[in-house]
Amino acid sequence: MIKQSVLKPENAAFRETVPAGEYFLKVVKAGESVRILDLEGNQAADTLFYNAHNPTERYSAVDTIREQGNVYLTAGSKLMSSENNVMLEITADTCGRHDTLGGACAAESNTTRYALEKKCMHACRDSWLVAVTEHEELGMSKRDITHNINFFMNVPVTADGGLTFADGISDAGKYVELEARMDVLVMISNCPQLNNPCNGWNPTPIEVLVWS
Ligand SMILES: [Zn+2]
Repeated sequence: MIKQSVLKPENAAFRETVPAGEYFLKVVKAGESVRILDLEGNQAADTLFYNAHNPTERYSAVDTIREQGNVYLTAGSKLMSSENNVMLEITADTCGRHDTLGGACAAESNTTRYALEKKCMHACRDSWLVAVTEHEELGMSKRDITHNINFFMNVPVTADGGLTFADGISDAGKYVELEARMDVLVMISNCPQLNNPCNGWNPTPIEVLVWS
């Protein structure tokens, strides 16, 4: 569902551009809004959410899909935690659909999906592992990297229940905006994937904005 935001970028308390292949880590407090902006279009922002005070409570794709009765995420979607609490709600969306089924790219999936020599290519899972390694204070490790949301990524479910990685439906300037319902640690990997059309074969930067 397309829904414009009423928030103005010039009033944002925080703005940061995240290059493709980099991670982004920030606590967004309850009541604050965070926008992920697809600057150049057709980019995937692979995202994990954690309770900022207890990262064992984290975003749950399964609980979110069951509670809303739909596999796609868009304006109005409430993102549920592994404890079945609402973590964030999507309050604006100019792309219209986001994936939470396809999972993030990894060295292992690059190998099995594409070719053995793709194993060394940079992947989202590597970016998250770098994030938790560079931030020991979080007390997180490999085991905390679980299922995620691929904002802007188009993974339609076929009539017979199959998953397809399709060409993106996002474009330059499209965004998704979420209001936090608890203090949330946001961990984004701006996807460096070159082997499928989720980034239009050309990974590009995103911008993250936060309104207090
Ligand atoms: Zn990726």
